[in-house]
Amino acid sequence: MKLAGKIALVTGGSRGIGKAVVEALAREGAKVAFVYKSNADSANALVADQAAQGREVIAFQCDVSKKDEADAIVQKVLDKWSRIDILINNAGIIKDGLLAAMTAENWQAVIDTNLTSVFNFAQAVMRPMMSQRYGRIVNMSSVAAEYGNQGQVNYAASKGGIQGLTRCLATEIGRRNITVNAIAPGFIETDMTETVRSMGGEKFKEVVAGISLRRLGKPEDIANAALFLASDDAAYITGHVLTVDGGLTLGGI
Ligand code: NAP
Repeated sequence: MKLAGKIALVTGGSRGIGKAVVEALAREGAKVAFVYKSNADSANALVADQAAQGREVIAFQCDVSKKDEADAIVQKVLDKWSRIDILINNAGIIKDGLLAAMTAENWQAVIDTNLTSVFNFAQAVMRPMMSQRYGRIVNMSSVAAEYGNQGQVNYAASKGGIQGLTRCLATEIGRRNITVNAIAPGFIETDMTETVRSMGGEKFKEVVAGISLRRLGKPEDIANAALFLASDDAAYITGHVLTVDGGLTLGGI
């Protein structure tokens, strides 16, 4: 098992990509704590499912955009397991709309949940990781950071911010044997993309036709990349943004 003895913290682990990440890390032997915002039923079901397979997974409710809540969660993990080896900053939301009509609330909610959360949790785990002389931080960005998408100025800004934060932080804490990387997923089958997927028809066929591998990604496709970056297989990779999009952004036809 690649992560035997490791302690991991995953934000947004109750559903979608985060859930698949929790499962992948726990399968590889890590003890995993994850946070969710409001979906307690999904979170409890995941904890129970993992326990039934003999894996140690715990869940905490928290709003990742709040600094004091992030600090408290990290302290709870340290109280329980005394260290944190892996942080996966995955929690995210969309509140799409053209800039002309976007409310300040919808701008701020996306920036706070997607980007400020990464600051909150990365800062909270830095001290224990630095004193351990070991850490793996993986931040969930998006291909939307680099490719224009109508209606997503808030989302793209948050995901671009994550990429800049990732590179800068990697230079700051590399000497302590802490790597910081990001993943840029393409179009993945989760609740977040349900609206577009449910369109069906010709429009949806066009989306799929633009993906080289001719299918949407599955949460497990992203979880496998997160597992790699969190493992010692990626010990010499830092400040990198790994695109996992089936070729969506290659522009091929
Ligand atoms: P999802 O299915 O909508 O799940 C979002 C997760 O984040 C849930 O666990 C949710 O908790 C949690 N969350 C949201 N706001 C939170 C908050 N304020 N505090 C704590 N937890 C919060 O999303 P997903 O599609 O798996 O996306 C996961 C990440 O990948 C996001 O950062 C997203 O931007 C990124 N991404 C997704 C795609 C895609 O195609 N799906 C593409 C590129 C990037 P509850 O269950 O309690 O609501």
